[in-house]
Order: sequence, then C-alpha cells, then structure tokens
Amino acid sequence: MRKLKLWILMLITTMIFTSTIGFADNALVMDSYQIASNSQNNQQQSNSYDYDILIKSGNVYKEGNKLDMAIKDGVIVAVKPNIKGSAKLNINADGKFISPGYLDTHNHLGKTNIDTGKESKTLMEAVKDTEEYWENFKDSEQIKKDVKERAEKTIIRMIKNGTTGIRTNVDLHIEAIEAVHELKVKYKDYIDIQIATHITDEDIIGPAIEKGWIDCIGAYAQPEWNSIENGTIDKAFELAQKYNLPIDIHVDESDEPNIDCFLYIIDKTIETGMQGKVTVGHVTALSAVDDDVAAKAIKKAAESGINVTSLTSCNMYLMGRSDTGIIRRGPTRVDGLLKAGVTVSYASDNIRDPFRPFGNGDMLEEGLLTAQIIQYGTKTDLNTVYDMGTYNPAKVMGYTNYGLKVGDRADIVILDAESAADALIGQATKLYVIKNGKLTVKNEKKSTILDIDSK
Ligand SMILES: [Zn+2]
Repeated sequence: MRKLKLWILMLITTMIFTSTIGFADNALVMDSYQIASNSQNNQQQSNSYDYDILIKSGNVYKEGNKLDMAIKDGVIVAVKPNIKGSAKLNINADGKFISPGYLDTHNHLGKTNIDTGKESKTLMEAVKDTEEYWENFKDSEQIKKDVKERAEKTIIRMIKNGTTGIRTNVDLHIEAIEAVHELKVKYKDYIDIQIATHITDEDIIGPAIEKGWIDCIGAYAQPEWNSIENGTIDKAFELAQKYNLPIDIHVDESDEPNIDCFLYIIDKTIETGMQGKVTVGHVTALSAVDDDVAAKAIKKAAESGINVTSLTSCNMYLMGRSDTGIIRRGPTRVDGLLKAGVTVSYASDNIRDPFRPFGNGDMLEEGLLTAQIIQYGTKTDLNTVYDMGTYNPAKVMGYTNYGLKVGDRADIVILDAESAADALIGQATKLYVIKNGKLTVKNEKKSTILDIDSK
C-alpha cells in the first residue's frame, strides 16, 4: 500500500492593475524620463542623445520580430536589429508586440456616460430618453459643463488604453461641440480628436466651422426619416464641399431590408467627386437585404471609394430586438465589404450611455468582440481585424504618416503580447503608450499566485 502524501495548497490569486498618464512636458510617468525632460540642465544634456526613445527587440507589427526602433522629434527614425546609440529613454521590449496607436473613428463623446435614470433598452427608447435628458438643461454653461465632465472620463479611458486618435460625433448642441473642442485642445499631446457634427443647419454650424471646431460633416440618414426626400444627405454633401471637409454619416441603422440611403450616398459620392472622403457608419440594413441586392451594393460601394465603419459590438447589442428564436447578430456585412476591397473599420460607437451600457474606450476589447461576432478567428483573420482598429481607420482619418515605418509619426503602443492575435485574444496590457514620440502612459498588471503551502 502506497503511502499518500497530503499536500494542502492554498492558492490566492491577486491581480493588480495600475495605469498612469502624465502630461508630456512636465509630469511624465517614468522617473527616468521625468528627470530627462524636467530640468533645463537635463534638457540641455538630452540634446546630446542620439534618440528620444530607443525600444529594443520588439515584435513590430507588419515589420518583423526582434527589431529595435528609434524615435526622435516625434518620428520613427530607424527600425532594424541592433540599433546603436544613446537615448533619453530606453525600453527593453524583449519580444513584446509593438503596435501603432489605436484609432476609434466612431464614438459619441457628447452622449458618453449619460445616466438618464431610466432603463432604456432599444435604440428608439435610447433616442427618446436621451432627448428628455437634454430637456433638463436650459443653460448653455450647464450643458457645456455636463458634456465636458462626461466626455473627459471617456477620453482618459481611451488614452490609457492606447487610443491615439478618435473621430467623435457631437450633436444637438453647439455647447457640446465647444466642450469637446476644449478637451481636444487640453489633450492634444495625448490623443488626436476629430469632431464630426450632425447639425446641418448652416446658421448654427457655419460659425463653428469657421472657428475650426468641426473636422467632419455628419448626418443621420434613415429611409424611415425620409433623409433623401427631406434633403438631409444633400445638405451634408453641400456643407462638406463648401467647407472642404470629409463626410461621416450614420446610415441605415435598421433591421429593415432597405438600403436606399446607403445607395444614395454612394451615388452622391461619385457625383460630387468625393471618393475617399466619405465614410458611412452602421449600414446594418445591408445584412437584412437579400444576398444579390447586397452584392450589387457592395460592388458599387467599392467602386465609389466609400469607407464603412462597423459598430460591431453596439449593433450586436441594439439590433434584432424583435427577432425571436435565432437573433441576428446585428452588424453590417463586414466580410463581404472587406473582400470587395472596401476600407472597413470597427469602432466603439456608444460608450456607457442609454444606447449601450457597455464599453471601456478600449479598441482591443472592441476588436475581440468584432472578431467573434464576424467569425474571424484564424491568425490571418485576426490580423485583418487588427487592421480594422489601426491601419484602416488611419485612412478614414486622412493620416498619411501612420504606421511603424521609418518616417511615420511615433504613435505607438507596446503590449504585453507577442503578436496581434495574441494581443486580441489575451486582451493584453498596453504597457507603454507613446504619442508624437513622447511617453504618455504606462500600465502595469501584476498577477501573482501565492502558494502558502509549507510542504
Ligand atoms: Zn454612432
């Protein structure tokens, strides 16, 4: 008879997650960098460095593994093995994944974190409850203060999660646009913010455009709102052309098999010569029409150079509410659009508001949801999804120097992962975020299993 040993193991798992952002010029998170950038003497001394930041041995997305990356004056100046030279800040990436900063081209900073006190469930309930929420605000300053406080929370979440650029929809009130514009200026060293408005009344929006508060013209276009007949889409194109701005329109966010607005916008894009400058979001009705109708529309969309943003997680939550049994997934036909050559991105849409109570301002989280919802799970597919949160939205935002090549702007995330697929699946910690060549965020996640067994 074998004598059994009894081991008593007590396992306690602790997880600590800390995140810090600091202002790039005066209170950076890393001591070494703080010292280097704070004092006049050290600034003088820092000029003698070859580089501002030297990252050693990282797996650089699309460029190769175990490469060094040198950054100077906000730009990537070298990407190759064994870069020699001195740097103000040295980061040993040691096989960690290096990604360009995330770009979230469709969210709603004007609505984020609204708590109406009501339990909105459907899209139309959320619309109604949000409209009623605004009725409580009669005073301009009150609106501005409210938007600023709510939007700032989400901006900070995004910055901490490695998002370096967003296009946000702000509507209903000019005060809301002013509030987000002020945040855009405040956080300019951390995140680029493009503001899209859905106010198409030129008397209201014209002065804001003249002041430089608006980066993009938007609109809400739905067949049931007669958006073609009442001129909403035409007005958006008219304003965009007059002020030389891109267009980003919410289109056909419905379960009904009607894509008239989508088709109208495609035609309008070609007619006005705005190819490449028009983006549509949602287009969930494209999933509701028959396959042959969808195929023709997708072909036309590709020819028109229109960009499509899939609000995958939000539309999964909101759509198909009247379905029984098998409930439709909700988002647009991402696979068909991608295969036709359309630039497709995913984005957050609503973050913690009456439209969607979820969202952490985290593009890696949105990417993982997108991958599962659109059934993209192979390594190749996961790279495609990763591009939908990085390189594809860079085209939407009009960036020409985005990426990880020499000469690109140094907007970078270093993740505790080996690859894009690993980062998505593992929801990897964004260890360092670099914006315009400056370290802006450091995140740490510690997980320890404590074994207090004494044999
Ligand atoms: Zn939206």
